[in-house]
Amino acid sequence: MTKVRASGVTLKASPTLGVGGRLGDDIGVAVSNTIIAKAIDRLKKEGCVADLPYSSASYYDVAEQICRLAGLQFAKYLRSKTRQKNLVCRFVSGGVSIHKKDKDSFYATREWKDLRYAALVRHGGRCQCCGESSATGSVLHVDHIKPKSLHPQLALTLDNLQVLCEACNVGKSNRDSTDWRPRLVVST
Ligand SMILES: [Zn+2]
Repeated sequence: MTKVRASGVTLKASPTLGVGGRLGDDIGVAVSNTIIAKAIDRLKKEGCVADLPYSSASYYDVAEQICRLAGLQFAKYLRSKTRQKNLVCRFVSGGVSIHKKDKDSFYATREWKDLRYAALVRHGGRCQCCGESSATGSVLHVDHIKPKSLHPQLALTLDNLQVLCEACNVGKSNRDSTDWRPRLVVST
């Protein structure tokens, strides 16, 4: 425990307080870090593979992953810090239901599988970011350029799909809508 003097009051800083923590949050610091840590534990248990450091993950980071897992709309639950906090607290207390089947059912449809295959053929079966292919040992993902959670109407639009290897896709979050497709392929 380190003692920190902030605005005339001596506070015990939580050992888990990392660069993401702010001393101005005073008594909220230790509590919120515990909630975030609990949320991270539960996310991992539910199969979340995102990189969430206990020391620096924010409410936004954790809430974003909860949305992904539970199929919740980013626009609704990440809009403000209060909403992010509410969602994280609700998740920790078991108040957010995770319907894995519902979430995965889209990817099990014939429509998606046909479209996914069409995207792989269209882009030559290679990661459009680094050029890796399954022949070189990479797992390829067909990615929604504009995330499905934010643009559900584009979920089955071929022009909204790109091929990324696992490494490149993991680095791309739902906040990022970078179109990695080469210009030649995009222009029709
Ligand atoms: Zn790649």
